[in-house]
Amino acid sequence: MLPFENQVEDYVQQTGNHVLYRATPISEGENLLASGVLMEGYSVEDSGAGICFCVYAFNVQLGVQIDYATGESVLADEAPSEPTEQVPPEEEPSYVFNHNTRKFHRPSCSSVEDIKPSNREDYSGSREALIEQGYVPCKRCRP
Ligand SMILES: [Zn+2]
Repeated sequence: MLPFENQVEDYVQQTGNHVLYRATPISEGENLLASGVLMEGYSVEDSGAGICFCVYAFNVQLGVQIDYATGESVLADEAPSEPTEQVPPEEEPSYVFNHNTRKFHRPSCSSVEDIKPSNREDYSGSREALIEQGYVPCKRCRP
């Protein structure tokens, strides 16, 4: 794409003329990532004498493997030959605490259902921080 972009830029700077310029991403099927870009350029004042092109730029880059369906790209050298195991991101533990009793529970605890909505608050963060604030772990669900 760059040579054409430079061509247009030089032309506009040198002549002060206008260039009709359009870049249309083209993707195949349901792909998230465009397979390429249709670039069209046409200089207005001299009816295309200066700039007149219609090119299709493939969305490829040397040394990069692009998955057009997902938009993900990897360096070809680092492309895994076999699927690597995905480690799920460690989730912040979340708790439900009761303002009134100052106890906190696992969200799955059966006592959570008994907490009045006005006393109940969901919390995501560390257990230690809750204890520092004076909350006591529930004896039933042992969060
Ligand atoms: Zn509990």
